[in-house]
Amino acid sequence: MLYIDGEWRAGKRNEFFTVTNPATSDEIGEVANAEKIDAEKAVDAASKAFTTWSKTTAYERSKYLSDAYNLMIERKEDIAQLMSEEQGKPLKASRNEVQYGADFLLWFAEEAKRVYGEVIPSARKNQRFISIKQPVGVVGAITPWNYPVSMLTRKLGPALAAGCTVVLKPAEQTPLCAKAIIKIFHDVGLPKGVVNLLSTENPEEIGNVLLTDYRVKKITFTGSTAVGKKLAAKAAEQVKSISMELGGHAPFLVLKDANPEHAAKGVSLIKYLNTGQACISPNRIYVHESVADEFISVLKTRVEKLKAGSGLDETVTIGPLVNRKEIEKVDNQVKDAKEKGAKVITGGKVLTEGNLKKGNFYAPTILSGITEEMKIYQEETFGPVAPIVIYNDQDDIFAMANDTNYGLAAYVYTENLSAAMHAFEALNFGIIGINDINPTSAAAPFGGMNESGLGREGAREGIEEYLETKLGGFQLN
Ligand code: ADP
Repeated sequence: MLYIDGEWRAGKRNEFFTVTNPATSDEIGEVANAEKIDAEKAVDAASKAFTTWSKTTAYERSKYLSDAYNLMIERKEDIAQLMSEEQGKPLKASRNEVQYGADFLLWFAEEAKRVYGEVIPSARKNQRFISIKQPVGVVGAITPWNYPVSMLTRKLGPALAAGCTVVLKPAEQTPLCAKAIIKIFHDVGLPKGVVNLLSTENPEEIGNVLLTDYRVKKITFTGSTAVGKKLAAKAAEQVKSISMELGGHAPFLVLKDANPEHAAKGVSLIKYLNTGQACISPNRIYVHESVADEFISVLKTRVEKLKAGSGLDETVTIGPLVNRKEIEKVDNQVKDAKEKGAKVITGGKVLTEGNLKKGNFYAPTILSGITEEMKIYQEETFGPVAPIVIYNDQDDIFAMANDTNYGLAAYVYTENLSAAMHAFEALNFGIIGINDINPTSAAAPFGGMNESGLGREGAREGIEEYLETKLGGFQLN
C-alpha cells in the first residue's frame, strides 16, 4: 500500500510489484506501484499539511519524534528481521541499523527545540535586525536499499523536526522496510499528510513529479553519484534546495607506524560490513611495505572465517549482494584486476555451493598488487572485495589517497599522533576515521566533498538542511 494523506491505499492503477529476498530469491511480499497521479496526490497532501504542521510548536513536533523513537525501539526486533529478509544483511547488523536509525529520531526530537534565530546589531540607531529560521516547505526524499531504515529516519527526523512535510520515495528493492517506518509515524498519530510514502518500480516517473512540482521546495537524496547528478541538474531548473549523499571511494591508509593487526581487524570489519554495499566502504587499501606481510596475514585469517548465507541465520556473518547485476559488476572488477596482474589472496569468485546458488553471493575477497589502471582502483565496488596497494617511502600517500573525484570517507591507521593529525588535515574527505572504523553517529555530521555530495546529515548541521533563514530589518520611529 501507498501512504497518502494519512491513509493506506492502492495506487490509482491498482498495480503491485513483488519484493524478493536476495539470499533465496523467494518472493516475500507485494507492494503498491505508485504512478504520476499518486505522486501528485501525495504532494497535494504534503502541501496542505504543511500549512498547519509548520505552525506547530517545536515541543509538539519533538513529542511526535520521541514517541516514534520509543515505538521504533519497541519494534526493533521485528524491523530487524524484516530487514534481514528484504535486504539480506545479518541480523546483528540489522539490529544495529534499527538502533542507528532510531537514534536520528531521538536526536532530532531534541534538536527541534534548538532552532535559534539571531538578533544582529545594526550600524543605524533606529534599525533592528532579527533573523529567524523557518522550514523550507514540502520535502521530496529519495532513499536507497543498502540502509533501508536509517537512510529514511536520517531525513525524516530533521525534516519533521524543522516543521517540513515529506513525500518519501524509497528504493524499489526495500519498500517493506519503508512501510514499517511510516507505520510507526502513523501509529504515533502524526497528523495526516505530514509524511507520505510512494513505493514504486518507476523511480524516474515519481522523481520527476517531485522535481518539477513547484510546491516541493527541497530534494534530499541518498544514492549513486550518477543518479544524484541527474536529480541535481533537474532541481536546478527551479533552484530547489538539495541535499545529496552520493557514492564514495574511500581510501584506507595503514601507515608505517600503524599496528598492522589492529588495522587488519578494522578492514575485516568495515570492508565486509553490509557485504561492502556502503558508500563509506574502503575501496583502496594502502599498506606501507614494512607492515604489509603481517597486515595481509591477519586480514586473510579473519576474512576466511566469514560465513556467507541468509541474514536470518544467526551464525551468518556476511549476507548476499542485492541482485545479479551487482554480482556481475563485482566479478567483472575482480576479473579485470586479475588480468592486469592483481593477486587473489582469498575469494575472487561467485559462491554457488548448496543453498548459496539461490541467492546473490560473492566470496569475501582480498586482492593485492592493485594498480591505477585497474577498474577497481577507479570505480566504486559495492561488494566484498578488499583491494590492497603496497606503498613505500617514495610514494606521496596523501596525494594518492586524494586522487579521486569522490570525497566521502577515509580511514587512517597509525600509532603516531602527529601523523594522525597531519593525515586528518591533509585528506579531502568529509569523514575521517583515525584508528576508527565507525566514525558515524546521529550526533556526528555525515556527508561528502566533491562528487560525494552536498550538505550534511545528522548532527547540529542536519536540521539546517531543512531550514531557511529569514531576515527582518525593522526601522523604528
Ligand atoms: P543504488 O546504486 O544505491 O541503487 P541509485 O542511485 O540507483 O543507487 O538509487 C537510489 C535511489 O534513487 C532509489 O530510491 C532509486 O529508486 C532512485 N532513483 C534511481 N533513478 C532515479 C531517477 N531517474 N529519478 C528518481 N529517482 C531515481
